Amino acid sequence: MRKHIVAGNWKMNTDLAETQELIDGLKKINKTSDAEVIIAPPFTNLYTAFESLKDTDIEVAAQNMHQSSSGAFTGEISASMLKGVGIKTVILGHSERRAYFGEKEDLLAEKVNAALENSMKVIYCFGEELKDRNFGEHFEVVNKQISQALFHLDADAWKHIVLAYEPVWAIGTGETASPDQAQEMHAFIRKTIAEEYSKELADSITILYGGSVKPNNAEEIFSKPDVDGGLIGGASLKAEDFMAIVNAF
Ligand code: 13P
Repeated sequence: MRKHIVAGNWKMNTDLAETQELIDGLKKINKTSDAEVIIAPPFTNLYTAFESLKDTDIEVAAQNMHQSSSGAFTGEISASMLKGVGIKTVILGHSERRAYFGEKEDLLAEKVNAALENSMKVIYCFGEELKDRNFGEHFEVVNKQISQALFHLDADAWKHIVLAYEPVWAIGTGETASPDQAQEMHAFIRKTIAEEYSKELADSITILYGGSVKPNNAEEIFSKPDVDGGLIGGASLKAEDFMAIVNAF
């Protein structure tokens, strides 16, 4: 059985007080599903979030990190800094990092390596733009995003990788991929990994769907056999909505 995960990517939202408030809200709601829960607040709030949640089973992740271990990289955060405040999971390759900060597969491969060298878990995000889908190139784009950033890894390293398929056209737009479109892409991703590694490995990888997942559509999306959870943006900023999505499993 693959692990189910529902992760909240808070993006550049919440100050410290709002983080505390949202976490207090999350703690009040019972989890009735088997999904592992992860939240990813901004850097400034990671320590507080970690401290507030350390006696719970909610895990805290970072939204990004630098590939180097230290040095003259003004404004950047390294894996060891994250680990120093208790963070063991990092989101890498989010489409907003790709679009606004020019992150590409070669850089992301370095970031993935740095995270794994520091024994961190990686939630690796990727997904096609609308123009790719309109040209019928969405499978090719996704194949490249996965293979160029991850296929240098040995099979063992994949134990620490979670994939998150987030079609760019569905992020923050209110337009979600249909459950069938999500299933089709997730099955393609699994096939791609099976061809490069093995069916066993492909079958063991948790693949999340992200892009306008809300309480009213989560259950249908999560019912698809190759969808193992969600990476939630907007709806992760309200405790009731986020926990409703967690409990949609
Ligand atoms: P929305 O759920 O707001 O569409 O965001 C998805 C996302 O980018 C999660 O990383």
